[in-house]
Amino acid sequence: MLIDLRELAGNERFEADVCIVGAGAAGISLARELGAAGRSVVVLESGGFEYEQATQALYDGPESGTLIRPGSKYLASTRLRLFGGTTNHWNGWCRPLDRETFTLRPWVDDVGWPLTREQLDPFYDRAAPLAQISPFDYDDATASQKLRLDNVIETVYFHVSPPTRFGLLYREELERRPRVQVLLHANLRRFETDREARHVTSAEARRLDGAAFTVRARHFVLAAGGIENARLLLANSDVRPEGLGNDHDLVGRYFMDHPHVRVGYLTFPYWDQLVARIYDPVYVESRRNSICGVMRVDSDQQIKRQLLNAVVVLDRLTKTDIRFLDADIARSVTDQLMLGANPPENRGKTYFGWATVHGEQTPNRDSRVTLDDEVDALGMRRAKLDWRLRDRDARNLLATARLLAERLGANGRGRMRFVASEDDLWERTQWSYHHAGTTRMHPDPKRGVVDADCRVHGIDNLYVAGNSVFPTCGSSNPTLTILALALRLSDHLQGRLAN
Ligand SMILES: Cc1cc2nc3c(=O)[nH]c(=O)nc-3n(C[C@H](O)[C@H](O)[C@H](O)COP(=O)(O)OP(=O)(O)OC[C@H]3O[C@@H](n4cnc5c(N)ncnc54)[C@H](O)[C@@H]3O)c2cc1C
Repeated sequence: MLIDLRELAGNERFEADVCIVGAGAAGISLARELGAAGRSVVVLESGGFEYEQATQALYDGPESGTLIRPGSKYLASTRLRLFGGTTNHWNGWCRPLDRETFTLRPWVDDVGWPLTREQLDPFYDRAAPLAQISPFDYDDATASQKLRLDNVIETVYFHVSPPTRFGLLYREELERRPRVQVLLHANLRRFETDREARHVTSAEARRLDGAAFTVRARHFVLAAGGIENARLLLANSDVRPEGLGNDHDLVGRYFMDHPHVRVGYLTFPYWDQLVARIYDPVYVESRRNSICGVMRVDSDQQIKRQLLNAVVVLDRLTKTDIRFLDADIARSVTDQLMLGANPPENRGKTYFGWATVHGEQTPNRDSRVTLDDEVDALGMRRAKLDWRLRDRDARNLLATARLLAERLGANGRGRMRFVASEDDLWERTQWSYHHAGTTRMHPDPKRGVVDADCRVHGIDNLYVAGNSVFPTCGSSNPTLTILALALRLSDHLQGRLAN
C-alpha cells in the first residue's frame, strides 16, 4: 500500500513489525522480503515518485576534502531523494566484493569484516535477480584463467544491470502487499527512545510543511543512504547529546568512496578482437545481462606487494579519439612491438583503450560526516562532509596501473602510455558516488557502530542497511553487496520476530 502523507491531515499513527527509513535499493529490497513473509512493514520515504527540488535540497550541506573542488556539490548531486532513491540514476555495474576485502591485511589499519565472502555468497545469489542480473559463477577460474596475463594480472567480471530502477520495478508489488505501507513525503525527524536510549519505541516523520506522524514498531532500520544514515544517528541527540549509537565517537567517521582516475591509454597489438571485446560491456544472451571484463592484481600478489584492491576498466578508443589524442604515440607503440620477435599479422587488429583505475580507499578515521550548525527546512542540522584521501590511496592507484604496464610489456602483449603522475593525480581523480563506512561494522563497540547483524551497538532494536556499514569497500561497486546485506538482515529480523 502506498500512502502520500500530503493527503492526510497530520498526527496520524501507524504501527508495524518493522519500520524502515528510506525507499532506495536497501529499503525497497528489505520491505519486499519482509512483506512477502507476511510481516507488517511501514517504510518512511522522504520523497514522492518524482524529483522535487525542495525535498532534494534537504541533502545540501557544506563539504571539503581531497577531491572536493569549489562548486563540487558532492552531497547534493551524488544521491537522489525520491522513491527508488539513487537507483533512479545508477549505472547498474554489479560485482560481489572480492574475498580479500573481508580479510585483515596487516599493512593497512582498520580493514576487514566480521563476515567472510563465503557467508555472503548465498545472499549474493539471492540479490542478483533483484538487480535483474544472473548470479555470479563463484568458481569462474576457468574463464579468468584463459584471460590471465600472467600470475600477476587477471581478468574478472562485472555483470551490468539494465540498470534496475527499483522504484519503478517494485512499486506495484509494494502497492499490492496489504501489510506493507509505504509513506511518501515522510521524513524521519527523530526516534523516540527509552530513558537510556537503549531501545527505540517510535519514529517521528515530518512532512515539509511541518505536519508530524508517528510510527510505532518492534524494530527500526535506517536505510537512508551512506551519508544520511550517519546524519540521522548524530541528529538524534535528545537523550544522548553525542547521538544514537555514538558512545565511542565513531558515527560518521571512516567515510569512503571509490576514487577513480584515467591513468593513461594502452594498446594491445596482438590482441584478437574477440578477446578485446571482453573489456567492452557485451550483452550475453545466456545470462540475460551484459558482462564486462576488468583487469586486476591477483589476490596473492596484492599481499606480496602490499597493495589495496583496485580494478582497471578499459574504454575502447574510437578512431577519432585515436587521431585526436596522440596518433603518433599510439603508432610508435605499435611500431615498437613490430620490432619485436613476433610482429602482429594484422596491424588493423590493434586495440586502443583508455585505462581507468578504480581503487579502494583505506579506512581513515579523520574522513568524516558531522553535523553543520545550519539547519534544513525540517529544522534538522545539515550533513557536513570532510572526505579525506591519503597518499597511500594515491600510491595504490598508480602502483596498480604501473604493475599492469610492466606486465603488459614484460609479456610482449602491449604498451601503456601514462597521462597521470604523482604530481597531478588528485587533480585528475574523480569520485564514484559510493558513500561508505560511516556506521562501520565491527563486533567490538569500540571499533564499530553496528555488529555483524547490522544492529547498532547498545540499542536492541535499531539496525542499519546500506553501504554505511561497510568497514572496507574493496573495488567493486557497492549496490549488489547492499542488496545481499539487506536480504541477510531480513532473515535476521524474521528470526527475531518469530521469537
Ligand atoms: C550517477 C550514479 C551512478 C551509480 N552507478 C552505480 C553502479 O554502476 N553500481 C553500483 O553498485 N552503484 C552505483 N551507484 C550507487 C548506487 O546508486 C547506490 O549504491 C545505491 O542507490 C544505494 O542504495 P541505498 O538504498 O543505500 O541508498 P539510496 O538509493 O540513496 O536510497 C536512500 C533513500 O532514503 C531516502 N531518505 C533519505 N533521508 C531520509 C529521511 N530522513 N527520511 C526518509 N527517507 C529518507 C531517500 O529519499 C532515498 O529514497 C551510482 C550512483 C550514482 C549517483
